[in-house]
Amino acid sequence: MTEEAFDVVVVGSCMTDLVSQAPRLPRAGETIHGHKFFIGFGGKGANQCIQAARLGVKAAMVCKVGKDFFGDNYIQNFKDNGVHTDFVGQTSDAATGAASITVNDAGENAIVIVAGANMLLGGEELQKALPAISHAKVLVCQLEISPQMSLQALRMARNNRVKTIFNPAPAIPDLDPDFYKVSDVFCCNESEAELLTGSSVTNVEEAHRAGQELLKRGCGSVIITLGPQGSVVLKAQESTSKHMPVSAVTAVDTTGAGDSFIGALAFYMANYPTMPLEEMARRANQVAAVSVQVVGTQTSYPFRHNLPAELF
Ligand code: ADP
Repeated sequence: MTEEAFDVVVVGSCMTDLVSQAPRLPRAGETIHGHKFFIGFGGKGANQCIQAARLGVKAAMVCKVGKDFFGDNYIQNFKDNGVHTDFVGQTSDAATGAASITVNDAGENAIVIVAGANMLLGGEELQKALPAISHAKVLVCQLEISPQMSLQALRMARNNRVKTIFNPAPAIPDLDPDFYKVSDVFCCNESEAELLTGSSVTNVEEAHRAGQELLKRGCGSVIITLGPQGSVVLKAQESTSKHMPVSAVTAVDTTGAGDSFIGALAFYMANYPTMPLEEMARRANQVAAVSVQVVGTQTSYPFRHNLPAELF
């Protein structure tokens, strides 16, 4: 058990990306030569935690990896990024979550994700992390672990008046309605908003409408991220919804941009509790916009010293 208080606690997933670049995607039964292979650190939970830590908060990760090479490596990755790892469990019953990704020369991909150890994160681990969750400033959850565990963690935070950010990703159509009630900030992208509301979300106007619908379900506020169009912010206590545009940049790889945004949002909520949510979204846009200008997921996430002083 730890007596330390954390700014941000993330309960979520870790995935190791195994990426092969090849001229084309192989057919069933076929073996082909690729030209490059690399291993990357991913998983929405871990991505968000690492982005928050890089901006300078005291962050802890609650997750489960395998008792294997990838699990050991992931724990080291957290340590290298200053993330507290006392609540990173290791199991022999499943492998560390992995995504086998093949990318062809046209930039198309074929991906197999095996959630593995992520799905074994259970109530016992959450209880062990309760002292950290209940004393945190902000708790962040997604849906790459068992949804019931995410809901339980959000409830634990709520019961202790800890601010919550819920990112319903990857989206599931029959989301338990209690998720809305335990979310101070319900933050999703266009396609997740579309799946949850059943309405098209491709522009600011449609995002305003989808946001109103999500807000009605009981969350404190809603943020919908819109790629190069920035984000929209809606608050339960105000009838207006605000569009926060992002500066135009040359995007080279937008993988994990949403996680960079949420990690940054957690940083601002923990460090600047009185800042208006739309200002936090404006700044989180700028952080995520830096990440899309560099190839990779976590490798593209900026540190505090890479960013302009006006963001702090
Ligand atoms: P996801 O990665 O979940 O699909 P988005 O594509 O909505 O999420 O991106 C999240 C945030 O990243 C956006 O709100 C924006 O701030 C930033 N972003 C994404 N793509 C771009 C882009 N092409 N130019 C500038 N900022 C971007």
